[in-house]
This record gives sequence, C-alpha cells and structure tokens, in this order.
Amino acid sequence: MAMSRVALHGRHLFTSPHLFRRHMSTEAMAALDRIRHSGLLKTQGLVGPKWIDSYDGKKIEVQNPATGDVIASVPCMGAKETADAISSAYTTYASWSKLTAAERSKSLRNWYNLMIEHKDELAQLITLEQGKPLTEALGEVNYGASFIEFFAEEAKRIYGDIIPSPLSDRRLLVLKQPVGVVGAITPWNFPLAMITRKVGPALACGCTVVVKPSEYTPLTALAAAELALQAGIPPGALNIVMGNASEIGDTLLKSTQVRKITFTGSTAVGKKLMEGSASTVKRVSLELGGNAPCIVFDDADIDVAVKGSLAAKFRNSGQTCVCANRILVQEGIYEEFANAFVKAVQSMQVGNGLLEGISQGPLINEAAVQKVEKFVNDATSKGANVILGGKRHSLGMTFYEPTVVSNVNRDMLLFKDEVFGPVAPLVPFKTEEDAISMANDTNAGLAAYIFTKSIPRSWRVSEALEYGLVGVNEGIISTEVAPFGGVKQSGLGREGSKYGMDEYLEVKYVCMGNLKDT
Ligand code: NAP
Repeated sequence: MAMSRVALHGRHLFTSPHLFRRHMSTEAMAALDRIRHSGLLKTQGLVGPKWIDSYDGKKIEVQNPATGDVIASVPCMGAKETADAISSAYTTYASWSKLTAAERSKSLRNWYNLMIEHKDELAQLITLEQGKPLTEALGEVNYGASFIEFFAEEAKRIYGDIIPSPLSDRRLLVLKQPVGVVGAITPWNFPLAMITRKVGPALACGCTVVVKPSEYTPLTALAAAELALQAGIPPGALNIVMGNASEIGDTLLKSTQVRKITFTGSTAVGKKLMEGSASTVKRVSLELGGNAPCIVFDDADIDVAVKGSLAAKFRNSGQTCVCANRILVQEGIYEEFANAFVKAVQSMQVGNGLLEGISQGPLINEAAVQKVEKFVNDATSKGANVILGGKRHSLGMTFYEPTVVSNVNRDMLLFKDEVFGPVAPLVPFKTEEDAISMANDTNAGLAAYIFTKSIPRSWRVSEALEYGLVGVNEGIISTEVAPFGGVKQSGLGREGSKYGMDEYLEVKYVCMGNLKDT
C-alpha cells in the first residue's frame, strides 16, 4: 500500500468536502456534486448494516489520477474490521442461503435496475478515481451491471441431477449448494465490473461476501454497495473493507468461516493468496495477469485488423488484463499494417477522461509510468524502434503518449511481460508455426487475438493457442454470457456465463438407500 496516501483521521485537510474542491477542475466539481447529491459518495466501509470508519481512525486519500486532486478519503481498515465483516457475512449466510432462488433473483434484479438508473453517477465516479474516459466508464457500468442481471437470471437455474442407480433400492441425487462466505479481492482497473463479476454469481448461489476493493478505487465499490442495500440485498450479505491489503488478505485467508477466495489482480499476489488458502483448504478462483498475443496474418482484412488490435491494445490506456501485449505481424503485411496502425493511434486524444473526445486517460500511478518507461527503454536498448510516442505526455501527471514500437523480439521485456500501459509492440514473424510458437512462449494464458480471412487457419490457430479466450477478427470479446478466465499462470476458474456459477457451488451427492417396499 502506498503509505504517502494514508492520512491520519482528523487532519482538517480531509474533513471538509469543500476543501477537496478547492483545486478541482469545474468538470470534476460538477461530477462530484452530482454523485454526492445522488447519495452515492460513500466514504466509509460497510460491515453488516453499518457504514463504519477504521477502528484506529486511519484514512486513505482517494486521488483523481488525471489531476492529483483528492476526491475523498476512506477508512484504512485492517484485521479487526475484516474479522467483523467476516462475522457479519457468516451470520447473514444462514438466512440469505435459505431464501428461494426467486427471492435472491428479485433482489439482484433490483440492484441491476438501480445501477442502470445511476449509471451516469457510477461512470463519473469511475472516471474520477480511475481515470478512464467517461465513455469507457459508461461501458464499464453497463458491462458491470450486466453480470448482476445475468446472475439474477441464473439464480433460478441451479439444477441438480438424478443419477441412474446401479442398485434397484437406491436413488442417487446430486444437489448444488452455496460454498459459504466468500472473500473477494479486486483490482483498480475495472472498479465496478471486477466486483460484480464475483459478487453477482456469489449472491445468486446463496453465498455472502466480504469485498476488498483496491485502495485506488474504493469509491465505486462503496457506491455499488449502497445501491445493493437500496435494492433489498440484506445487510451482511455484502460487506466492503479496504485499506491494509496484506492484513485484510491474511484475515480472510486464516478464517475458517471464509470458504472461498476469489481474486483478480497480479499474478504475484494471486500466488500468495493461493498459497495462503492452503492452510484452511479454501476454494480459490484467480483471474491474473495476461500477456496477450494479437496475431495479424498476411491474409487479414487490414481495416478489421487495425480496428481490432487498436481496441484490444488501447482500451483503458492499455491497463486491462486482456490488452494486446504483443502484436505479431506477418512479414508480408508488416509495413502496411504498421503504417495504418500508427495513423490510427495518432488520432487518439489524450487527456482528462471527463472531457469530451478523450480516448486515452492517465495511468493509475507513477509506478505504472515508470514500468512503461523501463519496458520501452529496454526494447530500444536491444534494437527496437519507437515509431510513435515513447515518452511521458506533455500533460504531465501520469499521462503517457500512445506509443508504437517496431521490431520487438523475444529478448525484450515488451515481449516477455505485461506492460500494462499504452505501448503497442510490433513483432514481425514469418510463418504460422512461428506465430504460434511466439504466442505460446509465455507463462501467461489469458486472452489471444488473431486476424485472418482464412476459416481453416482460424480453427487451427485458435485450437493451438494456449489461452483461455481467443478473439478471431475481433478485439473486444468480453461479455457476461461467455466464460472469462485464463490457463497457465493467468489463473484458475471462470467468471461470467453459466460456468461462472460453478465457482460458488459445492456438489453434494445424496444416496437414498433401502427404498424396497417391505
Ligand atoms: P494487485 O497489485 O495484485 O492488486 C489487486 C488487489 O489485490 C488489490 O485490491 C490490492 O490491494 C490487493 N492486494 C495487494 N497485495 C495483497 C496481499 N498481499 N493480500 C491481499 N490482497 C492484496 O493488482 P493490480 O495492480 O491492482 O491489478 C493489475 C493486475 O490485475 C494486472 O496484472 C492485470 O492483468 C490483472 N487483472 C487480471 C484480470 C483477469 O480477469 N484475469 C482482470 C483485471 C486485472 P490494494 O490495491 O489496496 O493494494
């Protein structure tokens, strides 16, 4: 956790909302006023029915990455608050899990409706604390809410089985039951959707949840929780704690009342959580980092390939786990593709996401910019060429120029690791076999993209790619109705779709014996 962002409770700088506003842009002030008037600017954690501060009074400042303005401060919580949140989730589990599917479905549907009713405020909150452009933030609200709608419907379809018995006096049944209390830890890049993708199926199945959002983006999580309460989801079914990540994580891991950990974030933290889950043998779902290849074959439709790879690369300024991390381009189309791609990248507007026409916001923090700089420097020192951008943006803060780097190869960090920023590395290749070998030459296995007009090649390459998701001639493929998740070190389990329900259900076999008439 960034200690510089932790403030002591009571420092007058953080007690009056008017002081936050002093340095804010007109757009930010208007957005914040609207959010406040809608009752969605919640600045306390949620434990059971109570909105609470941290027990020791410590706070974290939430900043707008586009301006550095402090938007609000939230409690910096730790082990004690988390333990209370777990107790509240555990107590509520007894009643929530006993409701009928139809009753749970109704509350979830109400929650979905409220999110859509307040989509403008939620989107503004996302842009303010995360930085993504408002149109993308609105897209995230629709996407995030869609998980609640989808799982409200799926709640009614948790079917069991009757298995034909090998013995005539027995009947063999399979029941599906909720896992229990779930600990959900989420990242900053999708402050709403990464939460709803977990909480939607968990609540639909009858589980209760303790959510720990990222310290960078807690306000969207808190606003969503307020809407959940308004929707009739009982207090205690959804609890929100934030602050000291490792303390909160350890408390969730050690608790025997928490039966499952679901995590989206970096591979390093995911591995720690998996290890920590062993002592209580918890169920674990992990959505971790990616290193997506985007393969453009000679036979691709160039316009489709440029449009698709642009969307796959630059969404959220390159800060998504499914962002194209390496654009592999076949030699015959390389020059033509590079020229068209650079032209498209040049047209993107960088700036404060609240402003009209902006498609590239800031990076989340200074460390993210330094990582991008390190990757670009590493590539150029090994022979790659920056053909567009390649440096911090003149806007300052954490803005970085949309960048295209050509002649990237396997030895460079841009090839090996997730850059998580607006840098598109172009990697030339000769044959289909070369492309597949390069694409699979990584420990990650989340998303991959291919652009080709050949149907046989689409099948061949899709099947050969060691990835959980493959986009063919399409750069934006996530939807609530399809399974999302990685292979190799990109994770375990699937989110969204009917498969996403299984992560929150236990399978119970019931054998009914001695059924002979006597
Ligand atoms: P991160 O540093 O791993 O943080 C993710 C969450 O884990 C945050 O809430 C963070 O809290 C918390 N955390 C950090 N250390 C922890 C610990 N020791 N114990 C418990 N929780 C801990 O990742 P990030 O930088 O926020 O997110 C970017 C990464 O997420 C990228 O690698 C990206 O690919 C991946 N991602 C994957 C998917 C997917 O579906 N596969 C989706 C989105 C993002 P604080 O922020 O409060 O420190």
